[in-house]
Amino acid sequence: MPKEKADILSLSLKELEDFFKSNNDKSFRAKQVYEWLWKKAVRSFEEMTNLSKETRQLLNDNFTLTSIEICSVQKSTDGTVKIAFRLYDKLIIEGVLIPDRDRITACISSQAGCNLDCKFCATAKLGLQRNLNTAEIFDQVVLLRDYSIKHFKHNLSNIVLMGMGEPLLNYENVTCAINLITSEDGLNISYQRITISTVGLPKMLRKLGDDKVKVNLAVSLHSAVDEKRNEIIPVNIHNPLKELSSALKYYYSKTENRITIEYILLKDFNDSLVDAKELATFCKSFPCKINIIEFNNVENTEYYPSTHERKTEFVNFLESKNMIVNVRRSRGKDIDAACGQLAGKIINNE
Ligand code: SF4
Repeated sequence: MPKEKADILSLSLKELEDFFKSNNDKSFRAKQVYEWLWKKAVRSFEEMTNLSKETRQLLNDNFTLTSIEICSVQKSTDGTVKIAFRLYDKLIIEGVLIPDRDRITACISSQAGCNLDCKFCATAKLGLQRNLNTAEIFDQVVLLRDYSIKHFKHNLSNIVLMGMGEPLLNYENVTCAINLITSEDGLNISYQRITISTVGLPKMLRKLGDDKVKVNLAVSLHSAVDEKRNEIIPVNIHNPLKELSSALKYYYSKTENRITIEYILLKDFNDSLVDAKELATFCKSFPCKINIIEFNNVENTEYYPSTHERKTEFVNFLESKNMIVNVRRSRGKDIDAACGQLAGKIINNE
């Protein structure tokens, strides 16, 4: 039986060195290959032009080298671009490029689908298909960066893990991808330009703090009242706000990273002054800023965007309590690329 080939993108530098040693080749070959894989991000052995033909053949005989590919591009009237990627097993995930004045933000996925079942989210309707591996997370950044340079003549300014999936439920692969994205041996993008966006899983937030993962942290709160949060973010039922608050305090004590609290305003659900007061109280426990986000209608949900008047009252109240508040305009709504709208519709259309 032919031996099964290993995925070369799952190997550490040390493992590559061991491979070359065991094949009586120089261990510096490992460094060369590693650089092709993660610094130059090539995805075929043929492109590794400083390796001999024999070495490339050796790699071909022992490893697979897969890549994700762009399978569709949709452009919004506001300039936002949604890109669907096909994975090696034909699953589809999505990423978004959001140009804003002199900045381009790339939003990437961490899982194909998601099983957390948040009620305002289109991805939730897919269920969890699988975790993305490290290279699939990394490669989204490379392809979005290349698209951005080609079409916007601009490198990426920021990267947010806010696409499909809950990043902290794919912790190892996400943190490993972040290491490669930020490493000098990889894409060399600053930690400060990367944000993990999570529904806030207390145990994993503590781990993030213990591991001192230096990226920015955004927590999708959407209500500071347990009964309401349970309804829209079911994972809150077993991870109530008191535990979340304590984990965020712990995370801050370990990293001194100011936390961003994301809050989608839903009409007559979480947009009253009582809700604003609860939010202000929740946010007093750790340094944070609050992003108020406009809701994007997702098919088959019973929620609606708040009115302009309600939004103004809500924001004014928070500001009167000396909270730092930003109101986020929604982008890419016409192509289902806005927050909570990524659902791999291309799958359903095929
Ligand atoms: S909002 Fe995030 S965590 Fe919740 S279901 Fe959607 S992708 Fe999953």
